[in-house]
Amino acid sequence: MTTHLTPFRPPFCPNPHCDSRKNPTTWRFLRKGFYHRLTKPRRVQRYRCTRCHRNFSSQTFSVAYWLKRPDLLEPVFHRLVACSGFRQIAREWRISHSTVRRLSDRLGRHCLLFHERMRPREGPREPVVLDGFRTFEHSQYWPMDLNLVVGTSLFVYGFNDAELRRSGTMRPAQALKRRILEGRVGRPDPQATRRRVEELLRRVVPPGGRVTLRSDEHRSYPQAIRRLRDRHVVHERTSSKAARTTSNPLFPANLSDLLLRHSSANHKRETVAFSKRRQSALYRLAIWVVWRNYMKDRSENRPKGTPAQALGLVPRTLALREVLGRRLFPERVAGIRGWLAACYFGRIPTRAIARCVGHEARYAI
Ligand SMILES: [Zn+2]
Repeated sequence: MTTHLTPFRPPFCPNPHCDSRKNPTTWRFLRKGFYHRLTKPRRVQRYRCTRCHRNFSSQTFSVAYWLKRPDLLEPVFHRLVACSGFRQIAREWRISHSTVRRLSDRLGRHCLLFHERMRPREGPREPVVLDGFRTFEHSQYWPMDLNLVVGTSLFVYGFNDAELRRSGTMRPAQALKRRILEGRVGRPDPQATRRRVEELLRRVVPPGGRVTLRSDEHRSYPQAIRRLRDRHVVHERTSSKAARTTSNPLFPANLSDLLLRHSSANHKRETVAFSKRRQSALYRLAIWVVWRNYMKDRSENRPKGTPAQALGLVPRTLALREVLGRRLFPERVAGIRGWLAACYFGRIPTRAIARCVGHEARYAI
């Protein structure tokens, strides 16, 4: 959690509807006493905005706001990228697994904003690889792709999700079950991959931007690229059957897939820790992306620096304390709209669990 070595001064009013947002230089606040709590810092300064009269405290600007156990944020982050399941983490810290899930969601929301604030706004200046990481939510009847755009520097520029229909060989009983489930909750959108890849590329490559995009021979990718008329995309395709060596043009994506499966308990093969909801998988992926881009070296044996260092975005490997240094507010980070806003506010539905949409929206406020 944050420790303030210099006296803390609120940088702005945390109320997103406050008038002071229009003219921040004239903003004033009043000190309004203290409150005491059981964890450090035990004495917390309160403030009041002179414009909207909203009360807040120094904790309002901490990633650990409202937490009874702020000390758990850092260890939970490390274990989430070290392939631990929620219940395994919960047993170590003698807490409920739902506490771990809420911490994972909070870290995921923070990491979404952190990456959005840090990534290059002018788009990639290196060739990038687009790939769909195949996994599933709820049960194997609901497969999905996690689409990733990875640069040759191994920097992950962006990601999103696309639901898929279960395919491949099925026993007659499995085909019947799929028919029953689809009759109950509907069939996944057959255009989902095309729609989501288009959204992802629009986000990563700004209008007027140019990029060399490498991918496998997925037939939805050219359909998505054709719709990007205001971007110049040079599309190079490689068969997914080509040997997955370092000289394969898709190597950055292949390595990311490998590392993602190695680091995330929810994507292990044959596990009970699989993602129950797509939203939770996306929050966890956001945590992995921040760890991979800003904290994890490109080579363990011969340190070369992180992918973000290779792009010149940061001068050194970031410590987790720096990543979690200050709470980020979605309305103050540019570009939080569309799919990103839906993901941040927990509105990505799981088809098989109708109630999860409203339930998650509560936690995202
Ligand atoms: Zn205010």
